[in-house]
Amino acid sequence: MSAPSPSLMTSRQTAPDWYEKGLPHIWLPYSQMKTASPPLAAVRTHDTRIELADGRELIDGVAAWWTACHGYNHPHIRKAVEAQLATMPHIMFGGTVHEPALRLAARLCAMLPGDLERVFFTDSGSVSVEVAMKMAIQYRLNKGETGRTKMLAFKGGYHGDTLATMAVCDPEEGMHHLYGTVLAQHVIAPLPVDDASTAEFLRLLAQHAHELTAILTEPLVQGAGGMLFHSPDVLRILRKAADEYGLLLILDEIFTGFGRTGTLFAYEQAEIVPDIVTLSKALTGGTMALAATVARRHVFDAFLSDNPEHALMHGPTFMANPLACACANASLDLFESEPRLHQVQTINAILTETLEPCRALPGVKDVRTLGAIGVVELEKISNPDALRQKFIAEGVWIRPFRNIVYLTPAFTITPDDLKTLANTIYRVLSS
Ligand SMILES: *Cc1c(COP(=O)(O)O)cnc(C)c1O
Repeated sequence: MSAPSPSLMTSRQTAPDWYEKGLPHIWLPYSQMKTASPPLAAVRTHDTRIELADGRELIDGVAAWWTACHGYNHPHIRKAVEAQLATMPHIMFGGTVHEPALRLAARLCAMLPGDLERVFFTDSGSVSVEVAMKMAIQYRLNKGETGRTKMLAFKGGYHGDTLATMAVCDPEEGMHHLYGTVLAQHVIAPLPVDDASTAEFLRLLAQHAHELTAILTEPLVQGAGGMLFHSPDVLRILRKAADEYGLLLILDEIFTGFGRTGTLFAYEQAEIVPDIVTLSKALTGGTMALAATVARRHVFDAFLSDNPEHALMHGPTFMANPLACACANASLDLFESEPRLHQVQTINAILTETLEPCRALPGVKDVRTLGAIGVVELEKISNPDALRQKFIAEGVWIRPFRNIVYLTPAFTITPDDLKTLANTIYRVLSS
């Protein structure tokens, strides 16, 4: 195929040289490259703004897939990376350790309620979930329990795009149907949100308990599955069920972690302790790729043995990259020194008020907010790409998917920018 013509990209100015030369060689994510609108040429970010090559500036409603919780280019994070870059940008983690990673591991364990106390670093969210799954599988093997290799995961769930994680995503909405025969078989249940779904969840649990090792879910919000919210009670049901059947509870906090739902970690709201937690997305304040799988003591203890085969056999080349760990430490500094959770409350109040009018628009099914997440759910979005282009024309970066238009802004967004985002959603959806 040929590159999109520059005239399509912008009428005001021709595209930069690197755009025209490079675009024909790039394969974009989640994109039908024959028909999708050409991507925007971004040249600079600051605070909650994205500056384009043609001089336009967009207010960002998504915070780079909800990672940039302090806004873009935060000076405290930049200084930390610069200092780390000067001393040690990277070193292998197989046999050497370093201050940024060890400091970060200790801080994460101190922040996470419960005896979550061992951190395994990776470089992407999907891989941190795979590591959690490997931990849960080998946990059984090391204890001599065979045949318990499956996860019980949930409809509406999303845990990543790799082959192992696709198999624990929603079977209808994910890519299951395309990859059906090559994916591992797990048990996918409805989240126990009411009597009927609880009965079905418990039935599947009883039926499959002998082959299960863990229950896996995103706590409070199923993010990429459609920003579906559930109450903390659901997590308490899962914890109780896991205890009854001797299963591990794995919580994927990759979307919810670091304040997004109003508490530092979503599971705090249920007052339970999971056995394994996965973190990524906002871990480095959206600056670098880094992920962590954090396990409780009893999980880690199952790997302590005189048998070398009982070790966790995993080790990404760039695991615990010092630059990324320095970003994450700087990001945690900001959670300590700046009022992030209070900002999330303010964002929630503004979103709840300003998105409410959307409820009356034709085709709107639901309007909901939780922490710094605002969702307008429609009956159907026939062309998410076209809708995105309308938002861009209005000067905002909002990326509708499935049947939802959502905001997950930086916690540092100004009330004015936030109102502009919400009001633009109303205006575009009512036009
Ligand atoms: C984004 C996400 C992942 C996958 O993370 P990647 O870094 O994209 O691999 C997994 N789980 C949840 C809940 C996520 O939001």
